Amino acid sequence: MPINDIRIVLVEPNHPGNIGAVARAMKTMALSDLALVRPVDFPSHLADRRSMGAKDLLDKARVFESLEEAIGDCRLVIGSSARERSFPHSILEPRECAAQLVGEAADGEPAALIFGPERTGLANRELDQCTFQVRIPANEAFSSLNLGAAVQLLCYEIFMASRTPEEALASIPKEKPSLQIEMEHFYDHLERALDARGYLEGEMREVTLSKLRRLFNRGRPHSGELKLLHTMLKMIHNESE
Ligand code: SAH
Repeated sequence: MPINDIRIVLVEPNHPGNIGAVARAMKTMALSDLALVRPVDFPSHLADRRSMGAKDLLDKARVFESLEEAIGDCRLVIGSSARERSFPHSILEPRECAAQLVGEAADGEPAALIFGPERTGLANRELDQCTFQVRIPANEAFSSLNLGAAVQLLCYEIFMASRTPEEALASIPKEKPSLQIEMEHFYDHLERALDARGYLEGEMREVTLSKLRRLFNRGRPHSGELKLLHTMLKMIHNESE
């Protein structure tokens, strides 16, 4: 199975050395699509040096201003985090994560695996843009791997999944789930409609929006279903005017 369509996204990497280490980790596992969101220091000699023979990946790495732009063309987005969140998200094991990515990413259908900044990890609002979360099981008292090591381990699982028979992989849903950018438009509309009805007032606003995002992310609506939801929202919105 080809794995060129699996994109590794680093959100705000602080140390250029880690970006180089990630490029090397990816190349050893036959991955090549690297996206960087607001890297603190890039391009950088330090990144080039740490990448060893993988400078070609750094040369063609794309830099984005926002996570939304880096994953807008994906239907499947998996966020990696060592932490369990206070409300449930669908948490995958590395092997399941790899089977899902390899099963769904195909010609011209990119899928993304996201990594957070070294110090803070992915924020809730970033995980809210993901279909699933992946956690690498580790020492409960010390579960945070170095960024390069986390990328290496998950890319290894992707490489191994690419060598397994197709039947063992997750299959692409019959009706393609919507693109991430279409989901963002829907969440915009949802927020506006709920605001118009005064539903999002008070301190629970962010938590409520986050719960709704996770609910719809889990449902993976296809474009026909999103259209239905947009129509419902329009009606709710108009009633309040
Ligand atoms: N201090 C941060 C960890 C940052 S490590 C925190 O507590 O969240 C940098 C990145 O590596 C993380 O954002 C995550 O994407 C990945 N990572 C590290 N350990 C991981 C683990 N056990 N499971 C999944 N991802 C992990």
